[in-house]
Amino acid sequence: MNLREILSKIEKEEIIVIWEEVAVQFDNLQQTPLGFQWRGEHYEVLEPLLVFKSSGGYLHYLLLTSGGVFCLTLVRDRGDLPLSESRWVLRYRVKDDAPPKKSNESVPLLGGSPKAAFSLLQGISKSMLVPLPLLNVVYYHGHLCPELAIGYRAGLVAQQELGLSRENAYNFFVLAENMTSAIDALQFMTGCTIGNQNFFVYDLGKHVYYFGRFSSTFDAQEVLRVALINPVIDLKYKGEVEKKIVAGRASATELKEYQKAIDDAVQEILSLPEEDLFSKSKVSLRLPQVTSRHNYTKCSCCGEVVAVEKSIMGENKFLCQVCAAKTI
Ligand SMILES: [Zn+2]
Ligand SMILES: [Zn+2]
Repeated sequence: MNLREILSKIEKEEIIVIWEEVAVQFDNLQQTPLGFQWRGEHYEVLEPLLVFKSSGGYLHYLLLTSGGVFCLTLVRDRGDLPLSESRWVLRYRVKDDAPPKKSNESVPLLGGSPKAAFSLLQGISKSMLVPLPLLNVVYYHGHLCPELAIGYRAGLVAQQELGLSRENAYNFFVLAENMTSAIDALQFMTGCTIGNQNFFVYDLGKHVYYFGRFSSTFDAQEVLRVALINPVIDLKYKGEVEKKIVAGRASATELKEYQKAIDDAVQEILSLPEEDLFSKSKVSLRLPQVTSRHNYTKCSCCGEVVAVEKSIMGENKFLCQVCAAKTI
């Protein structure tokens, strides 16, 4: 069965409804289920076929397993609460002509290569082939664009070279020289975030990224520098069409061409060998100093809460920088 046949079966409801809670082995790095236990059998995921988000916000994984094609759903009991309980529900199995295979006959999982999945996500063209881990990045960012793909590729370099992942993010820091969609990809993939004060941005308009380990001293230290050397993200003609789209003046043909240009750039970014995309080097870098905890006070002028370190001291009272500027 190819994906088209599977989807048409689902559409015709040629499915066996299961709706049972199951235990799932989840790969945090690839953000994909590796397998699950159902009725005493282990089902190994051979290929994630499709990931999509329903209007209720649930994540559905359509998975080719050692025992057929299943739809597995991550259900959050209260989507509005960040720490609410999540559970996995095996929703249905797509009917096929062959009887379900036993798990011990299964084909072993392919090595660490990023698995590809078709996406029905908003923000991605329907026919686009996208690695599954990137889909999670797209959920976070809201759409798939060339800069996001660059950030994703740079994040893969950090994962491979330094073993940087969301699990060990507290040991690392990232510094970026741009403020584009790539930053979202890198924050999501590495777990280093601006809020956690281990992601720093100096907008120089360059896709240059530094990845390093925190050290106990503030001396300069060796870090990995990854720089984009391929102008694959340069879509010059995009600017004009973009203006037209915003103004609602773009024709259907222009819209189509625009989407195709973006899709082509993304596909090229995802398929180019690493050395055609980035130059990598080790450089020495001193980390910006950060304050991990703020003491707060109230601005004596506007009454708003302000960090003591960021306020201006004047005549035995604290002023926020905005008020201080006004009173000068
Ligand atoms: Zn974007
Ligand atoms: Zn103030």
